[in-house]
Amino acid sequence: MNIAVQICGLMNILVLLVFYSGAKQLDLYKRRVFFYILLISVANLCFDIGSVIAIHYKDTLPTWLVLLICRLYLCMLDLEGIAAIVYTIADVFSKQIHRIITGAFAVVCMAECIAVFFYPVHIFSSGREVYTYGPAVNLMYVFSAINICIIWISSFAFGEKVRLRRKQSVRLWMVIWLLGMGVQAFDHSLLVIGFATSLGIMVVFFMLENPEGFIDSQYDCLNNVALSEYVDELIQNDEFFVLCSINLDNASHRQRNNEKEEKRIAKYIEYFERMKKANVFKTPDNSIVLVSDNTPDMKFLMDDFLDEFSSPVSGSQDHCIIWVENSYNLSSFVEIKKLVRFFRNKRRVDEKQFIHVTREMVEDYQSQDKIKKEIKSALKEDRVEVFLQPIYNTEEKRYTSAEALVRIRNTDGSLMPPGLFVPVAEATGQINALGRRVLEKTCDFLANTEAISLGIEYIEVNLSVVQAEKTSLFDEIMNTVRYYKVSPKRINLEITESALIHSKEVIINNMNQLKKVGFTFALDDFGKGESNLMYLVEMPFDILKLDMDMTKAFHVNRKAKSAVKTVRYMAKEMNLKIVAEGIENRDELFAFLKYDIEYIQGYYFSKPLPMPEFIDFVRNFNEVHNISL
Ligand code: C2E
Ligand code: MG
Ligand code: MG
Repeated sequence: MNIAVQICGLMNILVLLVFYSGAKQLDLYKRRVFFYILLISVANLCFDIGSVIAIHYKDTLPTWLVLLICRLYLCMLDLEGIAAIVYTIADVFSKQIHRIITGAFAVVCMAECIAVFFYPVHIFSSGREVYTYGPAVNLMYVFSAINICIIWISSFAFGEKVRLRRKQSVRLWMVIWLLGMGVQAFDHSLLVIGFATSLGIMVVFFMLENPEGFIDSQYDCLNNVALSEYVDELIQNDEFFVLCSINLDNASHRQRNNEKEEKRIAKYIEYFERMKKANVFKTPDNSIVLVSDNTPDMKFLMDDFLDEFSSPVSGSQDHCIIWVENSYNLSSFVEIKKLVRFFRNKRRVDEKQFIHVTREMVEDYQSQDKIKKEIKSALKEDRVEVFLQPIYNTEEKRYTSAEALVRIRNTDGSLMPPGLFVPVAEATGQINALGRRVLEKTCDFLANTEAISLGIEYIEVNLSVVQAEKTSLFDEIMNTVRYYKVSPKRINLEITESALIHSKEVIINNMNQLKKVGFTFALDDFGKGESNLMYLVEMPFDILKLDMDMTKAFHVNRKAKSAVKTVRYMAKEMNLKIVAEGIENRDELFAFLKYDIEYIQGYYFSKPLPMPEFIDFVRNFNEVHNISL
């Protein structure tokens, strides 16, 4: 009897079935769909083998029974095709909608099976060669072809919604299936369709469904891939969940004792799995992630965990626990992952270890994320602009410099102010690219306009401490000025003292290197927030910029006046020039002129201007060389 190949196929599927049902895995809807595919394949192969046996013994068995088995086999082939369609679109719809679609396909499948029973089927048997033929068989070939077409088309039509690996594996499955059909159509004695189907399913299993791919082999718990599928499915089905990410990275930074660290992780995982109140996952960034649909359960778990492991020896003080709920409009696991990373990185070492992410925090993160994307596209599409605000030289009574201030031109033509995007750029590191672009545009301006001949001696360019702390800063700045052939003395770099500073040494080293070749430096926003005189003492500044808050207070507050006088005196002693920022009217201007302040910047003279307007502005005033104040 010609059933060896089908038995091999059946063995394959049975082995997969044993693996699949025995493995540690989540109760995912998509997984269940695949489980049904395996069951249908087993049934299909059983009927395949059964039909060969029935035909072989057709003389001893009643004809109606032989024909019934042959027809049921044809129906199973159709069912398998329909099941493959349902499986292919499992990523696309929520569980509820997918169930409705499955129901609709079940009705179609039933109608097709009735048609198979309605049309005649004939059997052929001669020695090794046994097969069925006739209108019912032809009909089944047509249905199978339609099913394969639908699968193929939906693997393209739903685009990104069907995961790439699912598309690839399903297409391979179909190709193998088609090959099987081709071979059998060519030579009826080669009954390979069932075997080809089982091979196709093996491909899907190993590419997509292998439960081993969901297990962290070191800790024998679910891994990041399982977490991503699980959370995405919960979001897609609109099901409530609480996710707690316990990160142990801080601890590992401090005590790089891997073995000890691994033991700790294993102990925690074992503890959480024993409690059976949440699904436990281990992610590659040394986090244990717990997901539960029950908030009190998760609360209990966290309280108990902190009680159990908060002794100084076990060191749970190092953990950063982030609690997120899905009711905050989070659209995918990737977004949750970014959110968790964002709040983890934002937290300082001394800050609390338990962060309950609230709706407001998520909204804050989402608006930052939007700005981050805006900065990225603005850089790509060259929508980063530099405005120049003239700086008045009180001694020469003309404009001798300007401050370069970055703007982002929105796609609707409006401008985004730096107060909105510079802090985000600093947090994301995009400030490096942004700062580079500002310097390039400033150098281009100096090299290709008449600014210098109109009396502009240098431009002040803001340098974030994030940039100032880069060890490659000197090379980057030199490359730019060399490219535009701009002398370093034409650039004054403004640094603001900031809580973001990690390493003053690197900044001082960069400043010294840059000063050697001719750049000068200004300490920006002096007198605001966290002013620290030590910056002036330790860092080689040339200019001190009095912050607007200070210049405003100067007029209303006696103490501020004496502070400015003292700063004036101190600056002279330290050989520093002063720029007073934020001068908005004549009274403010004259008050500062009395104190012999070298430079004045503010709306009284001009707001920051686009480059061509700046040139017109300076030309109008500097050419007469004496501004009437
Ligand atoms: P900043 O460096 O202290 O710049 C001075 C800010 O004061 C500018 O705001 C300017 O428009 C504003 N200003 C000047 N005169 C007056 C005045 O008389 N009245 C008032 N009310 N405001 C005045 P802007 O352009 O919005 O920039 C804000 C901050 O953004 C800057 O403060 C700077 O810290 C940052 N920034 C701007 N461009 C860059 C850049 O290219 N790189 C970096 N890292 N930061 C930048
Ligand atoms: Mg500035
Ligand atoms: Mg300033």
